[in-house]
Amino acid sequence: MKLLYNIKHSKEKVSFSEALIRGLGKNQGLFFPINLPKFSSSEIDTLLKMNFIERSAYILSKYIGAELLYENILTCVKNAFTFPVPLVFIKKNIAILELFHGPTLAFKDFGSRLMASMLMNQVKEGYKLIKTKPLVILTATSGDTGAAVAHAFYGLKNIHVFILYPKDKISILQEKSFCTLGGNITTISVDGDFDICQSLVKQSFEDDFLKKKLHLNSANSINISRLLAQVCYYFEALSQISERIRATNKLVISVPSGNFGNLTAGLLAQSSGLPVQCFIIATNLNDTVPRFLQSGIWNPLPTLSTLSNAMDVSCPSNWSRIEELFRREKRSFDELKYGCVNDELTKDTINKLSKLGYIADPHTAVAYQVLCDQLNCGEFGICLGTAHPAKFKKLIEFVLDKKVNVLLPDVLKNQIKLPILSYRISGCFSKLRDLICSIVL
Ligand SMILES: *Cc1c(COP(=O)(O)O)cnc(C)c1O
Repeated sequence: MKLLYNIKHSKEKVSFSEALIRGLGKNQGLFFPINLPKFSSSEIDTLLKMNFIERSAYILSKYIGAELLYENILTCVKNAFTFPVPLVFIKKNIAILELFHGPTLAFKDFGSRLMASMLMNQVKEGYKLIKTKPLVILTATSGDTGAAVAHAFYGLKNIHVFILYPKDKISILQEKSFCTLGGNITTISVDGDFDICQSLVKQSFEDDFLKKKLHLNSANSINISRLLAQVCYYFEALSQISERIRATNKLVISVPSGNFGNLTAGLLAQSSGLPVQCFIIATNLNDTVPRFLQSGIWNPLPTLSTLSNAMDVSCPSNWSRIEELFRREKRSFDELKYGCVNDELTKDTINKLSKLGYIADPHTAVAYQVLCDQLNCGEFGICLGTAHPAKFKKLIEFVLDKKVNVLLPDVLKNQIKLPILSYRISGCFSKLRDLICSIVL
Protein backbone atom coordinates (compact mmCIF):
# COMPACT_ATOMS: atom_id res chain seq x y z
CA MET A 1 0.00 0.00 0.00
CA LYS A 2 1.71 3.20 -1.18
CA LEU A 3 0.53 6.08 0.98
CA LEU A 4 3.29 8.64 0.55
CA TYR A 5 5.47 10.08 -2.17
CA ASN A 6 8.84 11.80 -2.29
CA ILE A 7 8.43 15.55 -2.85
CA LYS A 8 11.59 15.64 -4.95
CA HIS A 9 10.70 12.57 -7.05
CA SER A 10 6.93 12.21 -7.15
CA LYS A 11 7.34 8.84 -8.88
CA GLU A 12 8.93 7.39 -5.76
CA LYS A 13 5.97 6.15 -3.74
CA VAL A 14 6.33 4.27 -0.46
CA SER A 15 4.24 2.61 2.23
CA PHE A 16 3.95 4.23 5.63
CA SER A 17 6.23 1.57 7.12
CA GLU A 18 8.89 2.30 4.56
CA ALA A 19 8.71 6.05 5.17
CA LEU A 20 8.86 5.36 8.90
CA ILE A 21 11.96 3.17 8.60
CA ARG A 22 13.81 5.11 5.91
CA GLY A 23 13.02 8.64 7.01
CA LEU A 24 14.15 10.22 3.75
CA GLY A 25 13.60 9.32 0.14
CA LYS A 26 15.88 9.52 -2.88
CA ASN A 27 18.10 12.65 -3.02
CA GLN A 28 17.16 13.48 0.58
CA GLY A 29 13.57 14.14 -0.53
CA LEU A 30 10.87 14.35 2.15
CA PHE A 31 7.83 12.08 2.12
CA PHE A 32 4.34 13.55 1.92
CA PRO A 33 0.88 11.91 2.08
CA ILE A 34 -0.72 11.13 -1.29
CA ASN A 35 -4.20 11.67 0.15
CA LEU A 36 -5.01 14.06 2.95
CA PRO A 37 -7.96 13.00 5.07
CA LYS A 38 -10.79 15.54 5.10
CA PHE A 39 -13.09 15.73 8.10
CA SER A 40 -16.54 17.29 7.70
CA SER A 41 -17.64 19.80 10.32
CA SER A 42 -19.95 17.27 11.95
CA GLU A 43 -17.08 14.76 12.08
CA ILE A 44 -14.93 17.46 13.68
CA ASP A 45 -17.61 18.03 16.32
CA THR A 46 -17.63 14.32 17.11
CA LEU A 47 -13.83 14.20 17.16
CA LEU A 48 -13.56 17.10 19.57
CA LYS A 49 -15.79 15.29 22.05
CA MET A 50 -13.50 12.23 22.15
CA ASN A 51 -10.60 11.87 24.57
CA PHE A 52 -7.06 12.68 23.45
CA ILE A 53 -5.89 9.09 23.00
CA GLU A 54 -8.89 7.78 21.07
CA ARG A 55 -9.16 10.90 18.96
CA SER A 56 -5.45 10.79 18.12
CA ALA A 57 -5.65 7.15 17.10
CA TYR A 58 -8.67 7.94 14.94
CA ILE A 59 -6.93 10.85 13.20
CA LEU A 60 -3.77 8.81 12.62
CA SER A 61 -5.80 5.92 11.28
CA LYS A 62 -7.24 8.27 8.66
CA TYR A 63 -3.71 9.19 7.57
CA ILE A 64 -2.18 5.70 7.72
CA GLY A 65 -5.03 3.38 8.65
CA ALA A 66 -5.13 1.62 5.35
CA GLU A 67 -1.83 0.03 6.32
CA LEU A 68 -1.94 -0.48 10.09
CA LEU A 69 -4.83 -1.90 12.08
CA TYR A 70 -6.67 0.64 14.20
CA GLU A 71 -5.92 -1.47 17.31
CA ASN A 72 -2.20 -1.30 16.55
CA ILE A 73 -2.34 2.45 16.11
CA LEU A 74 -4.28 2.81 19.34
CA THR A 75 -1.65 0.78 21.21
CA CYS A 76 1.14 2.93 19.77
CA VAL A 77 -0.67 6.12 20.75
CA LYS A 78 -1.33 4.81 24.26
CA ASN A 79 2.34 3.97 24.71
CA ALA A 80 3.52 7.27 23.29
CA PHE A 81 1.15 9.94 24.64
CA THR A 82 1.44 9.23 28.35
CA PHE A 83 1.37 12.78 29.65
CA PRO A 84 -1.19 15.61 29.83
CA VAL A 85 -1.57 18.47 27.31
CA PRO A 86 -3.22 21.29 29.27
CA LEU A 87 -4.50 24.46 27.65
CA VAL A 88 -3.81 27.23 30.16
CA PHE A 89 -5.90 30.40 29.85
CA ILE A 90 -3.83 33.42 30.70
CA LYS A 91 -6.09 36.21 29.40
CA LYS A 92 -9.67 36.50 28.22
CA ASN A 93 -8.55 36.00 24.63
CA ILE A 94 -5.26 34.06 24.92
CA ALA A 95 -4.32 30.56 26.06
CA ILE A 96 -1.08 28.57 26.01
CA LEU A 97 -1.08 24.93 24.93
CA GLU A 98 1.54 23.28 27.16
CA LEU A 99 3.29 20.62 25.12
CA PHE A 100 6.17 20.11 27.51
CA HIS A 101 4.93 17.63 30.12
CA GLY A 102 6.65 14.64 28.55
CA PRO A 103 9.80 12.98 29.94
CA THR A 104 12.26 15.40 28.33
CA LEU A 105 10.18 18.53 28.86
CA ALA A 106 9.77 19.65 25.25
CA PHE A 107 7.12 19.04 22.60
CA LYS A 108 9.55 16.79 20.72
CA ASP A 109 8.53 13.99 23.09
CA PHE A 110 5.28 13.57 21.13
CA GLY A 111 6.95 12.85 17.81
CA SER A 112 9.90 10.86 19.14
CA ARG A 113 7.75 8.66 21.31
CA LEU A 114 5.19 7.94 18.63
CA MET A 115 7.95 7.16 16.14
CA ALA A 116 9.60 4.79 18.63
CA SER A 117 6.39 2.97 19.46
CA MET A 118 5.50 2.65 15.78
CA LEU A 119 8.94 1.24 14.96
CA MET A 120 8.59 -1.16 17.88
CA ASN A 121 5.26 -2.26 16.49
CA GLN A 122 6.98 -3.00 13.18
CA VAL A 123 9.65 -5.02 14.95
CA LYS A 124 6.98 -7.01 16.78
CA GLU A 125 5.02 -7.61 13.61
CA GLY A 126 8.21 -9.01 12.09
CA TYR A 127 8.11 -6.43 9.35
CA LYS A 128 10.32 -7.73 6.58
CA LEU A 129 12.39 -4.59 6.06
CA ILE A 130 13.54 -4.72 9.67
CA LYS A 131 14.13 -8.45 9.83
CA THR A 132 16.85 -8.33 7.22
CA LYS A 133 19.37 -6.13 9.04
CA PRO A 134 19.76 -4.26 12.35
CA LEU A 135 17.87 -1.01 12.77
CA VAL A 136 20.14 1.84 13.80
CA ILE A 137 18.98 5.31 14.72
CA LEU A 138 21.72 7.87 14.25
CA THR A 139 21.09 11.44 15.35
CA ALA A 140 23.12 14.58 15.81
CA THR A 141 21.85 16.91 18.48
CA SER A 142 22.52 20.29 19.96
CA GLY A 143 20.52 19.19 23.00
CA ASP A 144 16.75 18.70 22.87
CA THR A 145 16.35 16.19 20.07
CA GLY A 146 18.94 13.86 21.57
CA ALA A 147 17.13 13.73 24.87
CA ALA A 148 13.73 13.14 23.30
CA VAL A 149 15.04 10.41 21.00
CA ALA A 150 17.10 8.69 23.72
CA HIS A 151 14.18 8.50 26.14
CA ALA A 152 11.72 7.43 23.48
CA PHE A 153 13.87 4.52 22.25
CA TYR A 154 15.45 3.48 25.55
CA GLY A 155 15.04 -0.22 26.22
CA LEU A 156 13.48 -1.10 22.85
CA LYS A 157 14.72 -4.45 21.63
CA ASN A 158 16.49 -4.70 18.28
CA ILE A 159 16.85 -0.94 17.86
CA HIS A 160 20.27 0.62 18.44
CA VAL A 161 20.50 4.35 18.97
CA PHE A 162 23.62 6.50 18.51
CA ILE A 163 23.49 10.15 19.49
CA LEU A 164 26.30 12.52 18.59
CA TYR A 165 26.72 15.83 20.31
CA PRO A 166 29.41 18.51 20.40
CA LYS A 167 31.67 18.10 23.41
CA ASP A 168 31.32 20.90 25.99
CA LYS A 169 28.72 22.71 23.88
CA ILE A 170 25.57 21.48 25.57
CA SER A 171 24.53 22.20 29.13
CA ILE A 172 25.38 19.68 31.86
CA LEU A 173 21.64 19.25 32.51
CA GLN A 174 21.12 18.34 28.87
CA GLU A 175 24.09 15.97 28.86
CA LYS A 176 22.92 14.19 32.02
CA SER A 177 19.43 13.88 30.62
CA PHE A 178 20.41 11.53 27.81
CA CYS A 179 23.98 10.33 28.37
CA THR A 180 23.27 8.41 31.56
CA LEU A 181 20.85 5.83 30.17
CA GLY A 182 23.14 3.15 28.68
CA GLY A 183 21.54 -0.01 27.30
CA ASN A 184 20.65 0.42 23.65
CA ILE A 185 21.45 4.14 23.79
CA THR A 186 25.06 4.97 22.85
CA THR A 187 26.02 8.61 23.27
CA ILE A 188 29.10 10.04 21.62
CA SER A 189 30.72 13.31 22.50
CA VAL A 190 32.52 14.68 19.47
CA ASP A 191 35.50 17.03 19.47
CA GLY A 192 33.92 19.76 17.38
CA ASP A 193 30.72 21.71 16.92
CA PHE A 194 27.20 20.72 15.97
CA ASP A 195 27.90 21.04 12.26
CA ILE A 196 30.68 18.46 12.54
CA CYS A 197 28.30 16.07 14.32
CA GLN A 198 25.75 16.59 11.59
CA SER A 199 28.30 16.01 8.88
CA LEU A 200 29.40 12.73 10.55
CA VAL A 201 25.78 11.60 10.50
CA LYS A 202 25.46 12.54 6.84
CA GLN A 203 28.65 10.67 5.99
CA SER A 204 27.26 7.58 7.70
CA PHE A 205 24.12 7.76 5.56
CA GLU A 206 26.28 7.88 2.46
CA ASP A 207 28.71 5.18 3.52
CA ASP A 208 28.31 2.08 1.34
CA PHE A 209 29.47 -0.38 3.99
CA LEU A 210 27.09 0.90 6.66
CA LYS A 211 24.25 1.14 4.15
CA LYS A 212 24.77 -2.48 3.20
CA LYS A 213 24.88 -3.76 6.76
CA LEU A 214 22.29 -1.60 8.54
CA HIS A 215 18.96 0.15 8.28
CA LEU A 216 19.99 3.68 9.14
CA ASN A 217 17.41 6.21 10.26
CA SER A 218 17.95 9.65 11.71
CA ALA A 219 14.77 10.11 13.81
CA ASN A 220 14.79 13.85 13.27
CA SER A 221 11.79 15.94 12.45
CA ILE A 222 11.81 15.00 8.80
CA ASN A 223 10.36 11.58 9.70
CA ILE A 224 6.70 11.59 8.73
CA SER A 225 5.64 9.78 11.93
CA ARG A 226 6.88 12.66 14.05
CA LEU A 227 4.87 15.11 12.02
CA LEU A 228 1.67 13.09 12.22
CA ALA A 229 2.03 12.85 16.00
CA GLN A 230 1.96 16.62 16.12
CA VAL A 231 -1.22 16.91 14.05
CA CYS A 232 -3.02 15.29 17.00
CA TYR A 233 -2.42 17.97 19.61
CA TYR A 234 -3.83 20.77 17.47
CA PHE A 235 -7.18 18.95 17.69
CA GLU A 236 -6.65 18.57 21.43
CA ALA A 237 -6.18 22.35 21.76
CA LEU A 238 -9.55 23.02 20.15
CA SER A 239 -11.27 20.38 22.24
CA GLN A 240 -10.37 22.37 25.34
CA ILE A 241 -11.94 25.59 24.06
CA SER A 242 -15.60 26.35 24.70
CA GLU A 243 -18.02 25.84 21.83
CA ARG A 244 -18.94 29.49 22.10
CA ILE A 245 -15.40 30.61 21.30
CA ARG A 246 -15.02 27.95 18.61
CA ALA A 247 -18.26 29.06 16.97
CA THR A 248 -16.83 32.51 16.29
CA ASN A 249 -14.44 30.88 13.81
CA LYS A 250 -11.81 33.38 14.86
CA LEU A 251 -9.13 31.12 16.26
CA VAL A 252 -5.50 31.90 15.53
CA ILE A 253 -2.52 29.78 16.57
CA SER A 254 1.01 31.08 17.03
CA VAL A 255 3.81 28.54 16.49
CA PRO A 256 7.41 29.11 17.66
CA SER A 257 9.30 27.84 14.65
CA GLY A 258 12.78 26.55 13.86
CA ASN A 259 12.74 23.62 11.48
CA PHE A 260 9.00 24.19 10.83
CA GLY A 261 7.81 20.68 11.67
CA ASN A 262 5.34 21.98 14.20
CA LEU A 263 3.87 24.49 11.78
CA THR A 264 3.65 21.85 9.02
CA ALA A 265 1.60 19.66 11.36
CA GLY A 266 -0.76 22.55 12.17
CA LEU A 267 -1.29 23.37 8.52
CA LEU A 268 -1.97 19.69 7.77
CA ALA A 269 -4.57 19.68 10.55
CA GLN A 270 -6.15 22.81 9.06
CA SER A 271 -6.26 21.26 5.59
CA SER A 272 -7.95 18.22 7.12
CA GLY A 273 -10.72 20.47 8.41
CA LEU A 274 -9.57 21.77 11.78
CA PRO A 275 -11.41 25.12 12.13
CA VAL A 276 -8.50 27.51 12.61
CA GLN A 277 -8.71 30.88 10.93
CA CYS A 278 -5.03 31.56 10.70
CA PHE A 279 -1.57 30.39 11.72
CA ILE A 280 1.11 32.77 12.89
CA ILE A 281 4.78 31.98 12.31
CA ALA A 282 6.97 33.16 15.19
CA THR A 283 10.74 33.06 14.81
CA ASN A 284 13.77 34.52 16.55
CA LEU A 285 16.33 36.45 14.49
CA ASN A 286 16.80 33.37 12.31
CA ASP A 287 14.01 34.69 10.14
CA THR A 288 14.51 33.15 6.70
CA VAL A 289 10.80 32.35 6.36
CA PRO A 290 9.38 35.72 7.52
CA ARG A 291 11.78 37.46 5.12
CA PHE A 292 10.73 35.09 2.35
CA LEU A 293 7.03 35.79 2.94
CA GLN A 294 7.73 39.51 2.93
CA SER A 295 9.95 39.68 -0.16
CA GLY A 296 9.41 36.45 -2.07
CA ILE A 297 13.16 35.82 -1.92
CA TRP A 298 14.61 32.75 -0.20
CA ASN A 299 17.84 33.97 1.30
CA PRO A 300 19.10 32.02 4.33
CA LEU A 301 21.78 33.88 6.31
CA PRO A 302 24.35 32.34 8.67
CA THR A 303 22.66 30.91 11.75
CA LEU A 304 22.67 33.17 14.81
CA SER A 305 22.76 31.96 18.42
CA THR A 306 19.77 33.19 20.40
CA LEU A 307 18.04 32.57 23.73
CA SER A 308 15.46 30.38 21.97
CA ASN A 309 18.24 28.08 20.78
CA ALA A 310 16.07 25.20 19.58
CA MET A 311 14.84 27.62 16.92
CA ASP A 312 18.31 28.59 15.70
CA VAL A 313 17.78 27.21 12.22
CA SER A 314 18.28 29.19 9.05
CA CYS A 315 17.43 26.51 6.45
CA PRO A 316 14.25 24.91 7.76
CA SER A 317 13.93 21.55 6.03
CA ASN A 318 10.18 21.21 6.51
CA TRP A 319 9.46 24.33 4.48
CA SER A 320 9.41 22.23 1.32
CA ARG A 321 6.50 20.24 2.80
CA ILE A 322 4.59 23.46 3.43
CA GLU A 323 5.16 24.58 -0.15
CA GLU A 324 3.95 21.20 -1.37
CA LEU A 325 0.85 21.37 0.83
CA PHE A 326 -0.04 24.87 -0.34
CA ARG A 327 0.51 23.96 -3.98
CA ARG A 328 -1.66 20.85 -3.75
CA GLU A 329 -4.45 22.47 -1.74
CA LYS A 330 -4.34 25.68 -3.79
CA ARG A 331 -3.69 27.71 -0.67
CA SER A 332 -1.91 31.06 -0.63
CA PHE A 333 0.96 32.17 1.60
CA ASP A 334 -1.07 35.34 2.14
CA GLU A 335 -3.07 33.45 4.77
CA LEU A 336 0.00 33.17 7.00
CA LYS A 337 0.92 35.87 9.48
CA TYR A 338 4.44 36.14 10.84
CA GLY A 339 6.85 38.03 13.02
CA CYS A 340 10.30 37.71 14.54
CA VAL A 341 11.55 38.56 18.01
CA ASN A 342 15.07 39.40 19.17
CA ASP A 343 16.60 38.39 22.52
CA GLU A 344 15.86 41.73 24.22
CA LEU A 345 12.18 41.48 23.36
CA THR A 346 12.16 37.81 24.36
CA LYS A 347 13.37 38.80 27.82
CA ASP A 348 10.81 41.61 28.04
CA THR A 349 8.11 39.12 27.13
CA ILE A 350 9.23 36.65 29.82
CA ASN A 351 8.80 39.58 32.23
CA LYS A 352 5.43 40.57 30.83
CA LEU A 353 4.15 37.01 31.13
CA SER A 354 5.44 36.70 34.66
CA LYS A 355 3.34 39.73 35.61
CA LEU A 356 0.34 37.80 34.31
CA GLY A 357 1.34 34.96 36.63
CA TYR A 358 2.83 32.76 33.91
CA ILE A 359 6.44 31.57 33.81
CA ALA A 360 7.45 30.94 30.21
CA ASP A 361 10.59 29.59 28.58
CA PRO A 362 12.15 31.73 25.80
CA HIS A 363 10.64 29.70 22.91
CA THR A 364 7.12 30.07 24.22
CA ALA A 365 7.79 33.75 24.91
CA VAL A 366 8.71 34.34 21.25
CA ALA A 367 5.41 32.83 20.11
CA TYR A 368 3.45 34.78 22.71
CA GLN A 369 4.98 38.09 21.68
CA VAL A 370 4.23 37.61 17.97
CA LEU A 371 0.70 36.50 18.87
CA CYS A 372 0.12 39.71 20.85
CA ASP A 373 1.44 41.76 17.92
CA GLN A 374 -0.82 40.06 15.39
CA LEU A 375 -4.04 39.33 17.31
CA ASN A 376 -7.03 41.35 16.15
CA CYS A 377 -10.07 42.39 18.10
CA GLY A 378 -12.63 39.58 18.38
CA GLU A 379 -10.05 36.83 17.75
CA PHE A 380 -8.97 34.15 20.21
CA GLY A 381 -5.27 33.26 20.23
CA ILE A 382 -3.54 30.02 21.16
CA CYS A 383 0.19 30.08 21.70
CA LEU A 384 2.12 26.80 21.62
CA GLY A 385 4.24 26.28 24.74
CA THR A 386 7.11 24.15 23.49
CA ALA A 387 9.57 23.81 26.39
CA HIS A 388 9.24 23.55 30.16
CA PRO A 389 10.49 26.64 32.04
CA ALA A 390 12.46 24.38 34.41
CA LYS A 391 14.87 23.79 31.54
CA PHE A 392 15.65 27.50 31.48
CA LYS A 393 15.42 28.24 35.15
CA LYS A 394 18.74 30.11 35.42
CA LEU A 395 17.94 32.39 32.50
CA ILE A 396 14.40 33.07 33.70
CA GLU A 397 15.61 33.91 37.21
CA PHE A 398 18.21 36.22 35.76
CA VAL A 399 15.61 37.98 33.59
CA LEU A 400 13.04 38.30 36.38
CA ASP A 401 15.70 39.06 38.97
CA LYS A 402 14.08 36.71 41.48
CA LYS A 403 13.81 33.03 42.35
CA VAL A 404 11.07 31.15 40.55
CA ASN A 405 9.35 28.03 41.68
CA VAL A 406 9.60 25.70 38.71
CA LEU A 407 10.63 22.16 39.49
CA LEU A 408 12.41 19.51 37.49
CA PRO A 409 10.54 16.22 37.35
CA ASP A 410 11.93 13.50 39.63
CA VAL A 411 13.29 11.42 36.74
CA LEU A 412 15.59 14.22 35.65
CA LYS A 413 16.58 15.04 39.22
CA ASN A 414 17.73 11.44 39.66
CA GLN A 415 19.63 11.43 36.40
CA ILE A 416 21.71 14.38 37.52
CA LYS A 417 23.32 12.07 40.06
CA LEU A 418 24.30 9.39 37.52
CA PRO A 419 27.64 9.15 35.66
CA ILE A 420 27.90 10.15 32.00
CA LEU A 421 28.46 7.07 29.83
CA SER A 422 29.44 8.74 26.55
CA TYR A 423 32.19 7.61 24.22
CA ARG A 424 34.45 10.35 22.99
CA ILE A 425 35.70 10.58 19.41
CA SER A 426 37.47 13.06 17.19
CA GLY A 427 35.55 14.44 14.24
CA CYS A 428 36.97 11.67 12.07
CA PHE A 429 34.39 9.50 10.30
CA SER A 430 36.32 6.22 10.42
CA LYS A 431 36.29 6.41 14.24
CA LEU A 432 32.52 6.70 14.21
CA ARG A 433 32.13 3.85 11.76
CA ASP A 434 34.39 1.58 13.84
CA LEU A 435 32.41 2.37 16.97
CA ILE A 436 29.04 1.66 15.34
CA CYS A 437 30.30 -1.61 13.89
CA SER A 438 31.86 -2.77 17.15
CA ILE A 439 28.59 -2.25 18.98
CA VAL A 440 26.01 -3.41 16.44
CA LEU A 441 27.63 -6.00 14.18
C1 LIG B 1 12.46 22.08 18.23
C2 LIG B 1 11.85 23.20 19.02
C3 LIG B 1 11.16 24.27 18.41
C4 LIG B 1 11.06 24.41 16.91
O1 LIG B 1 10.15 23.50 16.37
P1 LIG B 1 10.17 23.17 14.80
O2 LIG B 1 9.13 22.11 14.62
O3 LIG B 1 11.53 22.70 14.48
O4 LIG B 1 9.81 24.43 14.09
C5 LIG B 1 10.59 25.22 19.22
N1 LIG B 1 10.69 25.16 20.57
C6 LIG B 1 11.36 24.17 21.19
C7 LIG B 1 11.45 24.17 22.68
C8 LIG B 1 11.95 23.14 20.45
O5 LIG B 1 12.63 22.15 21.08
